[in-house]
Amino acid sequence: MEIIRSVNWMREKARTARAEQRIIGLVPTMGALHTGHIALVRQARMQCSLVYASIFLNPKQFGVNEDLARYPRPLEADFEKLTAANAGGLFLPDAADIYPPGFSTYVQVEGLGDRVEGKARPGHFRGVCTVVLKLLQIIQPHFAYFGRKDAQQARIIQQMAHDLNLDAEIVVCPIVREADGLALSSRNAYLTAGERKAATILYKALLAAQQALNTGTRDAMELRRITRKIIAGESLASVDYLEIVDAETFEPVVRIAKRTYIVLAVHVGKTRLIDNLLIDPVGSDLRLEL
Ligand code: AMP
Repeated sequence: MEIIRSVNWMREKARTARAEQRIIGLVPTMGALHTGHIALVRQARMQCSLVYASIFLNPKQFGVNEDLARYPRPLEADFEKLTAANAGGLFLPDAADIYPPGFSTYVQVEGLGDRVEGKARPGHFRGVCTVVLKLLQIIQPHFAYFGRKDAQQARIIQQMAHDLNLDAEIVVCPIVREADGLALSSRNAYLTAGERKAATILYKALLAAQQALNTGTRDAMELRRITRKIIAGESLASVDYLEIVDAETFEPVVRIAKRTYIVLAVHVGKTRLIDNLLIDPVGSDLRLEL
């Protein structure tokens, strides 16, 4: 698998591939790849004849007190995983090539980008959207793949693609979990053995919500109470936010009546983890996706 480091070379390669009628898929990541990332590559392989993964640790989406400096960078292992998954190439640009001196244009999805995760991490989605738009411009893929693990991010990118008339179709893929329910995340590597056990509390809390929904609970306050109570029972965990929001707008809902997310961010020790449950009313039934 080829590694492409320069923006210009990446543009050129992708332009040639398009001229050859290849269907291009893009899987943007920050590296430290796990099965969740690879599932995106596999999904892309099913729909596209050429799949590029990108690894770019985007400084503009990290706050000053966040974990940019200590974020894991196991490049060799990442390369092997992408090769095994039959990715066609890895775009691995330098920050100086993505943000050359004088860089001054940013993309902001108003409203949607300011709520929940956007409120907890000011500037985060602005950084995400800016880099994702750049990647989409450089490669101009037919499809770009994102995980529902970062549900608000995926929704915001869909909104940006719609608002800015981007050609790429944004594909949102299911959450990949460990056997005990913990959503895979590059940040799970920070957890000590004790914290790793405690981290299953996010999944357990969402399971409790799922059970309440299955037995008829529709009141958001009640669902929040049930979910928070589970997390309060884990001494290593503290809730950053736990919200029940409309799946389109990410505004709080009072009752479950249309597509809704329970989204949560929880500190386990010093590590901040996020997870969500998708609630999708279909007729008189509820489809629940963990
Ligand atoms: P990241 O490297 O954390 O920026 O993630 C790159 C992409 O992989 C994003 O679209 C994430 O939503 C997605 N992703 C991360 N973890 C998972 C997971 N456990 N399941 C599915 N997709 C994931």
